[in-house]
Amino acid sequence: MDYLQDLFEFLKIDTTSAKGKGEEGAKFIVDYMKNHGIEAELIRHKARNPYIYGEINVGAKKTLLIYNHYDVQPVEPLDKWNTDPFTPTIKEGKIFARGVGDDKGTLMARLQAIIELMKEGKLHVNIKFLYEGEEEIGSPNMEEFLKDYSEKLKADYVLWEGSGKAPNNAPQIVLGVKGLLYVELRKRTSKDLHSMYAPIAQNPAWDLVYLLRSLRTEDGKVLVPHFYDKVKWLSEEEKKYLNIDKKYLEDAIGQNIKDMDAMIKLVSNPTCNIDGIYAGYTGEGSKTVISSYSFVKIDFRLVPDQDPDEILRYLEEYISPYNVELIVHGKVRPYRTSINSEIARALIVSAKNVYGQDPIVLPNSPGTGPMEMIARYLKLNQIADGIGVDYYGSNIHSFNENIYVDDYYKAMSWMKEFLRVI
Ligand SMILES: [Zn+2]
Repeated sequence: MDYLQDLFEFLKIDTTSAKGKGEEGAKFIVDYMKNHGIEAELIRHKARNPYIYGEINVGAKKTLLIYNHYDVQPVEPLDKWNTDPFTPTIKEGKIFARGVGDDKGTLMARLQAIIELMKEGKLHVNIKFLYEGEEEIGSPNMEEFLKDYSEKLKADYVLWEGSGKAPNNAPQIVLGVKGLLYVELRKRTSKDLHSMYAPIAQNPAWDLVYLLRSLRTEDGKVLVPHFYDKVKWLSEEEKKYLNIDKKYLEDAIGQNIKDMDAMIKLVSNPTCNIDGIYAGYTGEGSKTVISSYSFVKIDFRLVPDQDPDEILRYLEEYISPYNVELIVHGKVRPYRTSINSEIARALIVSAKNVYGQDPIVLPNSPGTGPMEMIARYLKLNQIADGIGVDYYGSNIHSFNENIYVDDYYKAMSWMKEFLRVI
């Protein structure tokens, strides 16, 4: 079995879901699984690109569900690529191709590791596979799919999409996600006015400024009462694996960071962020006016166990004296798997065994994803991400997407070791 050759055949197939492609890639993987003795099928359901479902039942007590996606992001702008995105090319120890980092490479590395274990007769946990073809367009049909197939997907643990290496080159494990509450606040009066009326007229721009000032302190503390009531602050054990120098974060954001514990803050602090703000005249030159309209878009990034519905209620109550219109644009619940869970322990131990160093473990990603939804529909509380092939320079979603050949094989070894110790 030539691992890289098989990976390359997969990478050659254009599976850009945004352009309606994916079917051919799905068929390739189903055939690949079947050819290696894994039961697999395409499930169309309501999605345009089919789901791939696979199963290996070795009669074990526990079952691991593995999630990956086979679709990719559009490759444009093409002229920025040094090689053709659908002609996998090895250069200076790296493989260049669209999808090699996100997520086809990880899908294949894990799958090939499992095939190897099967051949060696060393697989001692049941495996279920779920490969999606619409992740890169926001998984629009995933919730419906989970609703209808929760019985079929039933498992004890879920291994998520694949977190690769942390910026300090240590293997990275992610045990959850932050949640989100996204709102827009609007303030209106009946018409624009000459600014000479300022002594007696209301100004929606000022109204908004005062409202915003009341939401947050200068150092980032959210002032909405009860906002922090349900926050689960990190334990010492959880902080131990966040030992990453702040210089990597400074590189990432292009700013100096004062806090020594920046990494802990990044993971554990919920926030109130202004995404966009508008009021009045912003054109050329001057216009003396009291604009009749102002609005702001705000995201609250939430941490376990904050509930976006509850936070919304607290917010509505708190800002009611300002008399603004409130529109909700999105709600996602946060999620966290315990660092002492079986899956987290198995990932940490196997990472140490393979890489010879402590992994970086994020109790939750600073970003948001649908983990809580998975946990809810599958009725389980052990979802973790790790065993990915990408690194901080993988340029996923961008041009010249790449991974190190060595990282590909390392991920295979990590997968085998993880399945041995779980
Ligand atoms: Zn992606």
